[in-house]
Amino acid sequence: MAASTKRNLAPGLTIAQSPIHGNGCFAAVRFARRKKIAEYTGEKITNAEAQRRAHRRVLRISGLDGRYSIDGSVGGNGTHYINHSCRPNCFLQTVHGRLLVLALRDIRAGEEITLDYVDSMHSDQKRCTCVASDCRGTINKRRTRATSRR
Ligand SMILES: [Zn+2]
Repeated sequence: MAASTKRNLAPGLTIAQSPIHGNGCFAAVRFARRKKIAEYTGEKITNAEAQRRAHRRVLRISGLDGRYSIDGSVGGNGTHYINHSCRPNCFLQTVHGRLLVLALRDIRAGEEITLDYVDSMHSDQKRCTCVASDCRGTINKRRTRATSRR
């Protein structure tokens, strides 16, 4: 790993080859359920700019709120390597304008950190390659009219 990459990693995280896809983000230490793993850092861009960047082959963009997104490929701290899984161990939450990666359950050192992208900028057709036994087959959750509103 390049020294510059290492320096920018959030504490407790490490980047390594993932069984899911390419390089993934792994826990180097134990994280307790509901605890913060790291802030999802990067360049703060408008959602319109995020749409313009959506055609890139490798997407590192995560929505922050109704107006802004974070592009982790610019100034990311390793959290931008977090892969999608249909059975994730983390979730994202916007707290006071910051996007945080939080543990959904206790995570052991050495486990890969995963998120359910739910509604990413990937195509709805993009196949999921996670290893969950109940993998839904696509990275985005397909929206059905029946569940759109209550
Ligand atoms: Zn899956």
